[in-house]
Amino acid sequence: MNRHSTVRLTRREALQAGGAFAAGALLERFRAATHGYAQQPTTSPAERTVAFRAQIGATPIQTEKLADNLILLSGPGGNVVVLTGPDGMLLVDTFVSPAWPKLQEALRGLGTAPVRHVINTHWHFDHTDNNAPLHALGATVLAHANTKTRMSQPHHLAILDLQFPPSPAVALPQQVFKDSQGLQVNGESLKLSHVAPAHTDTDIYVHFEKANVLHTGDVFFNGRYPYIDGSTGGRMSGMVAGATTLLGLADDHTKIVPGHGARCTKADLARYRDMMATAHDRVSKLKSSGKSLEEAIAAKPFTDLDDKWGKGRFDGDAFVRIVYSTL
Ligand SMILES: [Zn+2]
Repeated sequence: MNRHSTVRLTRREALQAGGAFAAGALLERFRAATHGYAQQPTTSPAERTVAFRAQIGATPIQTEKLADNLILLSGPGGNVVVLTGPDGMLLVDTFVSPAWPKLQEALRGLGTAPVRHVINTHWHFDHTDNNAPLHALGATVLAHANTKTRMSQPHHLAILDLQFPPSPAVALPQQVFKDSQGLQVNGESLKLSHVAPAHTDTDIYVHFEKANVLHTGDVFFNGRYPYIDGSTGGRMSGMVAGATTLLGLADDHTKIVPGHGARCTKADLARYRDMMATAHDRVSKLKSSGKSLEEAIAAKPFTDLDDKWGKGRFDGDAFVRIVYSTL
């Protein structure tokens, strides 16, 4: 046993303890939102995933009319948009699996037509969990080719410290595309287009062109710091570029549905894009000047932004961690 190996061990232990503390602190924030989980000790990433899914799934569904045949459902997962009409229903995203009974009830409230089309904005569980039961009832699931690939693999999501096994074959998209795809359903004209690696490498937006409604997927979190999934190709620079692309599709009357957060306008998206560009530049400077992750967090680069953006899932320190790791 020499002195150097003792030093290395101590440093590694310290790093592990730091990582565990950060994950634990985040989990405490998840748990605080739902009393039921406050006393349940969870230890492994797989167990945390079960708890996280249940916590999200417990949220009620709220309904908002966007147009005569377009409805926004929000609550237990990423925002869902439903297009109704004689061709059957079309859904953009599907909530988490524990919300399936509530989703069925909400859809029954919109009419008796079956769901014929499902679109996934990206591979994450809170957008794709109900692919399988919707497909079993007759829907075809459409997504970017990378969504099918990513869903077919096991993943560990950094920062959140969640573990996902490969999805069963019945949950995978039946149709995929690479760059963009048009769709004519219920008198509406939809444009689906890939956003280069941003929140993940699977992201698409869905533009309902006649109704002037834009579902951005998780490239846009309204009013809060976003999650960026570096483990499946997400990049901070792509988030800024993606937000700029989305801005170019919107006019002052566009109803914008973010992946998470309230329905909003082009002005809200512009504020988010500006915040993201600022965050990108500040953390880039810290990283390129040689600052470690912990030093970058200690520099508190987002203190002037935290009041507006740091009250969602991630505070300023957690967002520095996300940005630094996806530059
Ligand atoms: Zn996501």
